[in-house]
Amino acid sequence: MGNIIFGPLLSRRFGKSLGIDLSPHKKQCNFDCLYCELKPAKTVDKYDDVISVESIMSALQDALAQHKDIDVITVTANGEPTLYPYLDELIDRIDAIKGDKTTLILSNGSTIVDPDVRKALAKFDMVKLSLDCATDKCLKKLDRAHKGINVADIMQGMLDFKKIYHKPLIVEVLLVKSINDTPEHIEVLNKFLTTLNPTRVDIGTIDRPPAYKVEPLSSADLLEVASHFDTSLPVYIVHRKSSEIRAGSYSNDEILATIANRPLSEDDINILFDEQSKDRLKILLENKKVKIFKIYGVTFYILA
Ligand code: SF4
Repeated sequence: MGNIIFGPLLSRRFGKSLGIDLSPHKKQCNFDCLYCELKPAKTVDKYDDVISVESIMSALQDALAQHKDIDVITVTANGEPTLYPYLDELIDRIDAIKGDKTTLILSNGSTIVDPDVRKALAKFDMVKLSLDCATDKCLKKLDRAHKGINVADIMQGMLDFKKIYHKPLIVEVLLVKSINDTPEHIEVLNKFLTTLNPTRVDIGTIDRPPAYKVEPLSSADLLEVASHFDTSLPVYIVHRKSSEIRAGSYSNDEILATIANRPLSEDDINILFDEQSKDRLKILLENKKVKIFKIYGVTFYILA
């Protein structure tokens, strides 16, 4: 495995970012997800290979001196970054030197039950928590969680976190065919997410070779699943690199009806609409039938 710092990477979801890998030598995770792009590994509930805050800060300072134009410093890991024992100290040290950069952490959400983790995460400018499963059965089967982790605690932890965290909270749901994409499961997830009311919900599927034999959803299925979420939730579909959907023609009424059903992101428009439909959307925008709003890098089209 690689270096402490990676990137810069350009992500449509989060901007131009420099990544910090808190577990650069091996996978250290309390999940062993079927879809993980890292090799399968036994789950752990703490790191035994711990790099020092000093070595992270020195690598980060070197990288920041080299890449002055990045927007985001993203804390992640080959595994779960919140299992890093000095996360709280690390974010304080990053805060002291970050200048105008935004800090972001990508967590699998499992440790949000721990008040100390919530306290450290609250110091980040942006937090992304995953939530693939609304049932323990799914958590065991799909995320293959370490013993003792359960969905009720995770959900309660997220609600407790939301009470103290007033910055952008993004929840990511990764869907795997025939495992967590059933209507019953989506209904429970939707109910919880509507209560949590995160800033954005990112829905995606497998896009890289997975650790185990599991299948992604097609782009059409992703769109279908997204339509089952409450319209109050800004759902951003992380489209697969090779979308198999052909752009179609939408009349003005069809555009308005589609947007009324679910806010569409710029990416959705590029995949779904042919050139004439995009021109129609532009006119609807000029005529104030449709408006746009941005949620941390992602542009959505909604009814005006
Ligand atoms: S949480 Fe992330 S690193 Fe851990 S097993 Fe799942 S996909 Fe892999």
